[in-house]
Amino acid sequence: MTNQYQKFSSVLLIVALLAVVFPTQNYAQRRARKAPVSEELKLDLLIKGGLVIDGSSRAPMKNDIGIRADRIVFVGQSARLKVSADRTLDAAGMIVAPGFVDPHTHTLEDLSNPKSSGNEDYLMQGVTTVITGNDGDGPFRVAETLKKWERQGIGTNAALLVGHGRVRGEVLGAGDVPPSIEQLAQMKNLTAQAMDEGAFGMSTGLYYAPGSFAKTEEVVELAKTVAARDGVYDTHMRDEGSYSIGLLASIRETIRIGREAKIPVHISHIKALGKDVWGQSRQAVRLIKQARAAGINVTANQYPYTASGTNITAALVPRWAEAGGNAQLLQRIKDPNVRPRLVTEMEANLKRRNGAEAILFTRARDCSLVGKTLGAIALERKKSPVETALDIVEGGGAGIASFNMSEADIEYFMKQPFVMTGSDGSSGHPRKYGTFPRKLRQYVFAKKLITLPFAVRASSALTAETFRIPERGRLRVGYFADIIVFDPKTVTDRATYEQPETLAAGMKFVVVNGKIAVDEGKYTGMLAGRALRKIQK
Ligand SMILES: [Zn+2]
Repeated sequence: MTNQYQKFSSVLLIVALLAVVFPTQNYAQRRARKAPVSEELKLDLLIKGGLVIDGSSRAPMKNDIGIRADRIVFVGQSARLKVSADRTLDAAGMIVAPGFVDPHTHTLEDLSNPKSSGNEDYLMQGVTTVITGNDGDGPFRVAETLKKWERQGIGTNAALLVGHGRVRGEVLGAGDVPPSIEQLAQMKNLTAQAMDEGAFGMSTGLYYAPGSFAKTEEVVELAKTVAARDGVYDTHMRDEGSYSIGLLASIRETIRIGREAKIPVHISHIKALGKDVWGQSRQAVRLIKQARAAGINVTANQYPYTASGTNITAALVPRWAEAGGNAQLLQRIKDPNVRPRLVTEMEANLKRRNGAEAILFTRARDCSLVGKTLGAIALERKKSPVETALDIVEGGGAGIASFNMSEADIEYFMKQPFVMTGSDGSSGHPRKYGTFPRKLRQYVFAKKLITLPFAVRASSALTAETFRIPERGRLRVGYFADIIVFDPKTVTDRATYEQPETLAAGMKFVVVNGKIAVDEGKYTGMLAGRALRKIQK
């Protein structure tokens, strides 16, 4: 017993002596020597010394990111390894994050036009992947569009949604009519084909004609076709205010579509539109939380502006007046038997949008309108606002910014963990150039409403997961190298309602599929984006 105790104490003594002779520094050196020196890490690109926010809920960490070809091959401390890189980007003092993913854009034309296919307005916001075809308006000839993008080159990655409105228009025209069984089957076929050609899901614009003419059952049937192909359902809901069924009933309709078609449902640009429904963000969120608790995958996206962007016709003209298309709308406007009813309903709609001073013209064939409110133009013309609006509709319509949201609702939606960032970018509205940096500047850094990792996740990983875009949206070994490096002190939107087409600032580097698209704050002209194809399970 004594002997054993003596042996044990002499071992302890030796350990203690060793610790004195070889302090921890030496131990660390020995460990470093054990690192695989022979395996030299050869990189195309090394992003060094930045604070990495990887898109998950993990805490920010100072790390280096190594890229080879189009993939992330290393995340960690490169100083511990033998690393060689063709180029090293200095990210000291910068935030390194996954490239942002925008779930709702109107970039179809921009991407298809070689003059604007670089998508610079989005790259400068840190967006490396856009989804387009929202609001029911996506093309059903998906393969054709994807091939065109591949042939011409695009600056960001881009994914498509097939548009319910387009499918409906193709089979039923612009009328307020229900489909026959054969016509519904035809619509399902077009939708299935679009999915098989690579669409990630289906969008609806149930607020707009002709989507508004569809009953919920029709949408459920088409959504089942999409669900069978692992796709998602994205919607501009039937009513975001008090126009028809109301905001909350529209959320219930969306949830019902999710439940009956067994499909993840995504509410685009969630908002409480107009004073009638201000404050309903709380009830809306409660409905969504209940549905999520019941196993229905409901998510939403949002842009951080109090004005929406639309056109004067969609904002004020009732849908029945649009049935059959534009020629019939113009006839109804002229018809003395119809016009009084039209005017009365448009007056109610204008009130829903907070009146003529809350409608700002942002783009029109008649340039003299741009930058003025409907109220101001009505005064100039000595006509009522609705009569003025009808003249403008007859003259070909116009784009507007409609100031209809309350800041309190915007903030309440933004704090929800299922709400992601989506620009809904359209020409004439600053959100197309400013959404993502504006959220960082205003709501992370100025108001401190949300944390930076929360905002990054809501702008990247959450969106990629929701739309089932694999291997993007996170900084993780094996993932595509879509990476942004930005300065937290200077990142900001600069686009305003007066100057909506002003590029954002603060993105130092934007890497798309391993290629540098923004270098030291300037777009390089690189067309490194990919036309993304849905790979069905
Ligand atoms: Zn929309």
